[in-house]
Amino acid sequence: MSDKLVELKTDNDFIIDLMYAATENMLQTDIYSEVGLGNRCFMHPDMLEALNKLRATLKEHNLKLKIKDAYRPPLAHEKMLQIIPMEGFFARTPERSQHCHGSAIDCILVNREDDEELAYPCRVDAYEKRYAEQIAQGKWDDFKKHLERAKYTWTSSPEAEIKNREFQRKLLEQVGLEALEHEWWHFNLPHKEKYPLVDFRNENGKFIFL
Ligand SMILES: [Zn+2]
Repeated sequence: MSDKLVELKTDNDFIIDLMYAATENMLQTDIYSEVGLGNRCFMHPDMLEALNKLRATLKEHNLKLKIKDAYRPPLAHEKMLQIIPMEGFFARTPERSQHCHGSAIDCILVNREDDEELAYPCRVDAYEKRYAEQIAQGKWDDFKKHLERAKYTWTSSPEAEIKNREFQRKLLEQVGLEALEHEWWHFNLPHKEKYPLVDFRNENGKFIFL
């Protein structure tokens, strides 16, 4: 395996539960299994270094971090664009998605004892099948409301949900990651020019990063 990307596995502090390695997502398709990645969480070593710095704080607050997306193979991104080609959802090219560079994660905090997700103003991404069905018919209204709730500017939710969102942001910014104003679950490594696009092949079970 190339040393371009490294793997984070489920342990006492992190849970790997990639949303595109299951059918319960916007696409209703397990894209990551289709391209041979499955529920395997890869990232640039700088991202792993940042996440490892979170371990003590997560323990102190009796939390874990659940990773919902990390490295995304460019082929997976292209398949996502084929399923939802409309503007405004996925980055228009793999080049423009930090996930395809191994320099972004989507995540949410969970309780350490029972792995229960904390409450946030909306779910990560938009799992609901109805959004996919509506968008296929060109109806964006409900989904756009969901996108409003995904922004840090959204404040019309119960205080506890806003608090969890802000606390997560604080934790991830403390280890050097950058928040994305319109998606509370998404964090980037700074200086994205340092992280080139990484291609992926699964050759008979061997993961190759190019
Ligand atoms: Zn993301």
